[in-house]
Amino acid sequence: MVDIYVRGGFVITMNKRREVLRNGCVAIEDGEIIAVGKCSELDKDFKGKAFEEINADKHVVMPGLINTHVHLVQGMLKACANYRRLIPWLKERVWPLQGNMTREEALASATLTILELIKSGTTTFLETGLVGRYGPDNIIETILKSGLRAAVARHVMDMSGYALEKGALHEGLVEDGETSMGDTLRLYNKYHGRDGRIYVWFGPRTPGAVSVELYREIAHEAERLGTGITMHLAEVREDVEYTLKTFNMKPVDFVKWLGLVGPNVVLVHVVWVTDEEIKTLAETKTNVSHNPSSNGKLGSGIARVSDMLRAGVNVALGTDGGPSNDNYDLIEEMHVAAIIQNAYKADPEALRAEDVLEMATVRGAKALGLSDKVGSIEVGKRADLITIKYWDPKLMPMNDPVSHVVFAANGSHVQDVIVDGKIIMRGRKVLTLDEEEVLREVESRSRELFSRTGICVEPDVKYPLI
Ligand SMILES: [Zn+2]
Repeated sequence: MVDIYVRGGFVITMNKRREVLRNGCVAIEDGEIIAVGKCSELDKDFKGKAFEEINADKHVVMPGLINTHVHLVQGMLKACANYRRLIPWLKERVWPLQGNMTREEALASATLTILELIKSGTTTFLETGLVGRYGPDNIIETILKSGLRAAVARHVMDMSGYALEKGALHEGLVEDGETSMGDTLRLYNKYHGRDGRIYVWFGPRTPGAVSVELYREIAHEAERLGTGITMHLAEVREDVEYTLKTFNMKPVDFVKWLGLVGPNVVLVHVVWVTDEEIKTLAETKTNVSHNPSSNGKLGSGIARVSDMLRAGVNVALGTDGGPSNDNYDLIEEMHVAAIIQNAYKADPEALRAEDVLEMATVRGAKALGLSDKVGSIEVGKRADLITIKYWDPKLMPMNDPVSHVVFAANGSHVQDVIVDGKIIMRGRKVLTLDEEEVLREVESRSRELFSRTGICVEPDVKYPLI
């Protein structure tokens, strides 16, 4: 007997040869993929011999998606900061809301995001930066309970600016270097490696909020502990202005000078960079997380993704947070990434469906240092996979599984989610969290936060809401 046998449908393996199997089957035991192939070959060993058999007929079976840029606590802030560029978006809306969150509100918001990630097919994600006021332990415990796999970065900082604006950060989010660094190390010791699903990373704040000494210490500590670092970089023009004026360096040269480059580093956005900087990212094997919806919504610009990929940079995909996207659906993000890049480059092949699918799977795994564990459906990898039902008007007829997943599907088509060999969603019912309870909790907690801060109380629309 094996634990799970996923039977039938198209299997997008994302293996080295990028094979897609018609009438494919996958067998799972002890959290690991032990067989992948045509059902006609595998049935004799596994059909009727699994504790759980998932009928994937009329489904696409594919690796679970890897979202490399998530702000968990922003889940309840959708539509709370519309029509603003990044810095006013942060200062006037997002930071005051986050800086006033109680632990209960932060947990309700994070749990909402976790639920959305599961329901839209993400199995591994990178959280950008928790801080003390959110109660990071409770949030990590909830990730563990949900069954998802995650790298969780904790913010590290010792200043309160954003780029050239001093004191920009909301007082409720300000921490000193000792506290933020000390708590990151505490979380690392407590959770790193827990259940084989949690990794604790360093999440230095954006330039303007961290001293050179502390950035250097972060690089040193991450290397010592063998863990990762993630940071926003060159998202808007003001970021370039800051490193040029303050250090006489372009953003990528600045992070290279600090030691914040390398295979364990995920730089987020990286919109405003030159050819030379792209070359440096490739040479240093530094990863980039591309978040096209967020960059579009905030009017930040369009990252040079096809140029970076061609130069050899590992570019992965992320959704960013509730008020900048406004969802955490990585299937939708693949679509946006492809069409924006193709329009920007006036080239229908600048990003093909298979390119963005790589960004959301194998490239995401590489960015998180998890290539040997996840990102593809191959024997020996951990069993992180999802099914997408194509017996649906949006996805019929099934002419091209890879194209349909990227250009036609969205997260609502995801039916089953398996992480580490455990079924965490079956037929769209999440088995690890009580969806009703999560929604009820977020409904009341969000109202409390909005009325206390006076932000997001009324919708920001130009028509009457009566
Ligand atoms: Zn972000």
